[in-house]
Parts: sequence; structure tokens; C-alpha cells
Amino acid sequence: MNHVLGCSHGCLYPCYAYLQKKRFGDVTSYKDWCEPALVENTLELLDEELPKLKDRIQMLHLCFTTDPFMYQYKEIQDMSFAAIRKINDAGVKCSVLTKGILPIELAQLSKDNEYGITLISTNEAFRKRMEPGSAPWKKRLAALRNLHNAGCKTWVSIEPFPTPNIVRQDLQALLKEVSFVDRIIFGRMNYSKEVTAYTENRPFFNTKAKEVISFCNEHGISYHIKKGTITR
Ligand code: SF4
Repeated sequence: MNHVLGCSHGCLYPCYAYLQKKRFGDVTSYKDWCEPALVENTLELLDEELPKLKDRIQMLHLCFTTDPFMYQYKEIQDMSFAAIRKINDAGVKCSVLTKGILPIELAQLSKDNEYGITLISTNEAFRKRMEPGSAPWKKRLAALRNLHNAGCKTWVSIEPFPTPNIVRQDLQALLKEVSFVDRIIFGRMNYSKEVTAYTENRPFFNTKAKEVISFCNEHGISYHIKKGTITR
């Protein structure tokens, strides 16, 4: 479910959703993309669609082409919360992914929901450079940990993971920070000239994916390695 056009986080990997929306003329520029437009009748649309579709939905994901808990956009956060509650009331569980702050009140909703953050680095200067409008990574992670401590299912998306010519970092340190979660998704960075310029990118991603798998096996965390991350 994507109930917002645009995203103020303005990720510069670049953001695939931005590239698609620009290509199809939904937004005209990066500046336009970073000024989000909320679908104001989201709850009314859910009232119409949920009765028709709920029996066919295993899990509803928020969001693929925007961010449901956009940092410092209370109107969007409130709408997302209300939407999740409505979806749960229809008997459908939600999966949520954000680079903002997950509110602790989510713990009052269905315990079948799965709450996730994207975290590709523990380097705050890199976060500011690549995800300029997003929440600082420590705040993002603290909110996720609070939900975990409140008994919620949590997960982390380590995607798009960058190559060392973009940022030098210790994947093990990042994994230790997120070792409380139930599931880790790991995927390589795509659509970047810098990644292509790093000639060792394939062996690099193969090695890092193996590190993630070993860490998850050691800590009893389920994992998924995104297609194309491990290559021969
Ligand atoms: S948070 Fe997601 S949708 Fe928003 S700009 Fe970043 S990658 Fe794009």
C-alpha cells in the first residue's frame, strides 16, 4: 500500500521509486519528489477495498514506493497508524518498513504485524549524505528495539548495502546492533555508477551475504538474501 506520492527522506542511492515516478511523469524533479502528497481519502479507500480483497491478502506491506512513518511528517504518520489499525480490524496483518521512527503505540495493534527499519550503515555522516531527510539511525533503531521489547515482531532491511568505495564500514558492527530482530533482509546496492566502478563488487557482495547468513544462523535469526546479491 502506497498512500503517499513522494518521500521527504530523499535517498540518493538513488531511490528506485523516485526514478520510476519521474520516468512515468508522476513527479517532475527531485525537489518535487521530496515534497510528499498524502492520499487524503486513504481510510475511505480502505473501507471500500478491504471487504472485497481481505480474504485474498496474506499480509499487507507499507510501503514500496514511499515511507509510511516519514520523519517529522505527523500527518502521514497518523494516517499510516490509522490505516494499519483499520487493516488489522479487517483481519489482515501488516508488514511495515521505514527510515523514520516507529511509534511505540504500534505495540497496541495486532501482534501479528511485522515492524521493520532500513539500516544500511551505522555511520551517521553517511546517513546524512545518502538519506538526508530520514531519521538519525540511532533513533530509528531505538524505536524498533522498543517495539521488540514490547513483544512485537521486528525486522531489518540491510538494503541497498554499499560497496567500500562509497563508505568503509564494518558489517559485523551493524549486525551486532540489530541482533535482537526476528528477521534480516540483505541486498546489494543497484543502479549506482559507484558500485559498478568498484570492480570487485561481485566477490564483495558474495562475502558480505555469507557473513549475514553465518551471523543469522549463529543468532537464530531468520534471513532472506535478495536476488542478485549472491552471484558466481
Ligand atoms: S525512504 Fe524509501 S521511498 Fe523514501 S526516498 Fe528513501 S528509498 Fe525512496
